[in-house]
Amino acid sequence: MREAPVIGINRSQQADGSVQLQIAFGSCPLRCKNCDSPQCFERRRWRLYTTQAIVELIEPDREFLEQEGGAVVFTAGEPCMRAKFIADIRSIIGDKIKIVVESALNVPVERVQLLMPVVDRWVIDIKDMNPRIYRSYTGKDNLHVIENLRFLEQSGMKDRIVLRVPELPGLNTPEDRARSTEQLRVIGFEQFV
Ligand code: SF4
Repeated sequence: MREAPVIGINRSQQADGSVQLQIAFGSCPLRCKNCDSPQCFERRRWRLYTTQAIVELIEPDREFLEQEGGAVVFTAGEPCMRAKFIADIRSIIGDKIKIVVESALNVPVERVQLLMPVVDRWVIDIKDMNPRIYRSYTGKDNLHVIENLRFLEQSGMKDRIVLRVPELPGLNTPEDRARSTEQLRVIGFEQFV
């Protein structure tokens, strides 16, 4: 049975009665200047969960998770680094519950290939497409991000993908964000938040 470090679990019930269960992982390959999950990097905040422990959180809410707005949402310290863990959970819970992955996609393409058949919706934080801005913000280059975006688009996944091109205070301008959005449209993406 696999294990993964978790920094937070949050259950929220929507107005329509559906439930979203958010599971935030520890650790991350990036070091974003304004990281919204800094606990990722504090090992003492991690708690190891087995796949079975996550399934036991899911099952009591199955009826509400299966509703239209329901989902299990994997987020924070790069869920793609936990691809096998998530795929194992999918194989146990079946395909009636939606799985959402919130990712920066800066991982080797093999991780994305593993996850592609089990993810219903991807929410991808692009940061910025400009490599200089991206490196200033995250400490890494964005070659994997671009490779993975092309792979997902060529695999016919674009309708499952929503992209985020955020304001990075002091690093990008509205014009930079517009340029990033245009580059992403050229690759083939149409959904932005
Ligand atoms: S990708 Fe997310 S979790 Fe990782 S450093 Fe950036 S903001 Fe933090």
